Amino acid sequence: MTSELFFFTSGPGSKKKMDKEQIPDDILHKDAADEFLPPSFEPKSLMFPKHIRSNMDEKFKELADKILNRSLQGQQYFQKEVTAPYEVPEYPIEERESRSYFERQLSSRSHHSPVSEISPSDRDNLEVFRFDQALQTQDSYDEIKEVREEYLLAPLFQRISIVGENNSGVPIKDLEEASKSLVTALMIREKYMAVSQQSFPNITARFLQNLEDKEEFKGLSEGFKGLMEGSVRQKVIDDHPINPPEVKGDPFQCEFPENVGCHLRMKHGIVYVFKNKESLENDKPFDWPYIDKDTFLADQNMMYAFISDGPLKSFSYRRLSYLSARFQLHVLLNELKESAAQREVPHRDFYNIRKVDTHVHASSCMNQKHLVRFIKKMMRNHPNDVVCKDNDGKEMTLRQVFDSMNITTFGINVDMLDVHADRNTFHRFDKFNAKYNPVGESRLREIFIKTDNYIDGKYFAHTIKEVMSDLEESKYQMAELRLSIYGKSRDEWDKLAMWAVNHRVYSPNVMWMIQTPRLYDVYRSNNLVKNFQDILENIFLPLFEVTSDPKSHPELHNFLRYVSGFDSVDDESKTEHIRFDYDSPTPDLWTDEQNPPYSYYIYYMYANIVVLNHFRRERGLHTFTLRPHCGEAGNVTHLVAGFMLAENINHGLVLRKVPVLQYLYYLSQIGIAMSPLSNNSLFLSYHRNPLPEYFARGLNVSLSTDDPLQFHFTKEPLIEEYSIAAQVWKLNSCDMCEIARNSVIMSGFPHSVKQHWLGMNYMKEGVAGNDVSRSNVPDLRVAYRYETLVDELKVICRGAQSYNSTQTTSKSSPAKI
Ligand SMILES: [Zn+2]
Repeated sequence: MTSELFFFTSGPGSKKKMDKEQIPDDILHKDAADEFLPPSFEPKSLMFPKHIRSNMDEKFKELADKILNRSLQGQQYFQKEVTAPYEVPEYPIEERESRSYFERQLSSRSHHSPVSEISPSDRDNLEVFRFDQALQTQDSYDEIKEVREEYLLAPLFQRISIVGENNSGVPIKDLEEASKSLVTALMIREKYMAVSQQSFPNITARFLQNLEDKEEFKGLSEGFKGLMEGSVRQKVIDDHPINPPEVKGDPFQCEFPENVGCHLRMKHGIVYVFKNKESLENDKPFDWPYIDKDTFLADQNMMYAFISDGPLKSFSYRRLSYLSARFQLHVLLNELKESAAQREVPHRDFYNIRKVDTHVHASSCMNQKHLVRFIKKMMRNHPNDVVCKDNDGKEMTLRQVFDSMNITTFGINVDMLDVHADRNTFHRFDKFNAKYNPVGESRLREIFIKTDNYIDGKYFAHTIKEVMSDLEESKYQMAELRLSIYGKSRDEWDKLAMWAVNHRVYSPNVMWMIQTPRLYDVYRSNNLVKNFQDILENIFLPLFEVTSDPKSHPELHNFLRYVSGFDSVDDESKTEHIRFDYDSPTPDLWTDEQNPPYSYYIYYMYANIVVLNHFRRERGLHTFTLRPHCGEAGNVTHLVAGFMLAENINHGLVLRKVPVLQYLYYLSQIGIAMSPLSNNSLFLSYHRNPLPEYFARGLNVSLSTDDPLQFHFTKEPLIEEYSIAAQVWKLNSCDMCEIARNSVIMSGFPHSVKQHWLGMNYMKEGVAGNDVSRSNVPDLRVAYRYETLVDELKVICRGAQSYNSTQTTSKSSPAKI
């Protein structure tokens, strides 16, 4: 591995620098007299670190080619293969082979240990070795003492501690190399998160920083510091109520920052921002991080090499198995204490803690019964509403539409609606998509569940508002509804914003996400767009315009205050015929009828979000996150793109097949919004769902509904989701509260609102960040998760450190070789 790798990392230091970047003073304190002067906009510059080519690049590319070709050959390859080394062996012979493999490894390890290298005559050396060993034992005692001191501040519970050197269970050399790769991968993610202003856990960042500064890892004490500042922690609910203050007045009343008159141009698929006309003509954009395709591809190739590396696979698999076992022991020893701790919290229980439905599509957020009731109500009360035009362009009333389908108000029922997924939709995403059409009629979908139709989305707005009032009534359930922007035309954003503002579609329990379907091939073959860049321009240019001059799209500026991020949707199991590599055309040249691959879509969304976020931060506006559907099915490479570029992902089922990535998702605590009921109807039956396993290992998972219209039966789909998970997987109240807490943290609700729901310090590490009176998660569960993560980070950071030191010693003393 080249040392340039470390060049990428930004570390927590540089992130702090970014946070400090505020709106320039001259914008904040503007006198009325200045109104007539041209606005001065002097943002800071920050560039994206570019990749320096090295001879390793070719090697990584070769490796990446190999796994891509293998996966392009399709699923058959995997079916023919005997059980992969990280899965449970299926055949007895494999079991025997793998056992003897580990025995061999262990014996070879003792072979290489210093004792065997010492000849009996070399007694002096032996003495030295013994002395060394004695020192090491002393060291580990010290460490235990240090850890004990730290624990004094933490809640008391039964801890499992593994003592002794090299307790990872693999040969030292494997440990070092695996650690080195894992640390490099984490640094790659840290870089991409920092540059896009998305989140990366402090604890992991601190370990990476210490590794770079060659400092000893501080371990737990940092996380318990907050505990000592008792006054902050004990802020009582009376001072800072769990219910955020109500929004009074019109939620769509807001102020408009003035125009800074920036010029915009999209080049090779990325929007560039120019200070004025002159800099546009001279092609001198602001010095902002415009992501570089070759750097991304080089990093991506390196990631591909990691996930296919055999020893790293088995190392990660072993760590994950260890994490599962450790959790089992923790529950065994502390279950009673945990439930006692929960019982001690007055008032709070699973029903009145905040839980966010982190992944749900607006067009299917109502259940089937709700939709039937709504359709009936409209037919009864508004039969003469003109709702659409027929094929000849003649206006049609609601009554005429239903007459044309031979449906009466009395006759319509849930079975006729036929929107529920059933056993025929399993592995048939096409059939599932057809379920979005009530009674199999796309006309009804057009009338009832679209924002942009002949009635300006009036009915849809009504339905959504009913769902919103249900949520408000339940008080403790929130949802992040996805609305679509397709990228077919430039005015989509304005129409969508107009819909939300005109119909006053707002609720304190709902935040919007924007989903962009990956349908370039469809638009291209219908000649709606000329190339891929057209889509990107339609999606992103209006957002830059409204950031530069909010009054240019007043409704959009207003609506965006309730939008937290972007999602990318479509059937992931479709085979991708093209791959994203150095030769791929840039979006302006992508005129082919073929759909670009997943990582291409995600990359260009990410690259534009980076610039947009930078622009918005400079303007004092909130930033957006990228939280795509990722790993629901299809190629594992989607999860690599997700790991590098996305703050959170939805689904993540395929992680169960890729231990290296699963371990990395754990170490960087990437939020995964999982929907086991949706999976059960489409891709993976309930009892095989990896959620309980992910949860036990400490991955940051939450429960979400995806499409209540297709999958759920009750008025509270989110509770239905929790309820089934709890029954099938025997989750206890503590587990459910932990999952609910995860869902709030990973959601896109504003920081100040989350502070009400989870406590002032919810961003702090470990126990200091937990307020049991709000989250109902016992401190000892949070402490267990935190200490476990710290231990894992210690193992790999120490491994990487000793890798670095062995590398340098072997370089400095060539005589040995
Ligand atoms: Zn979904």
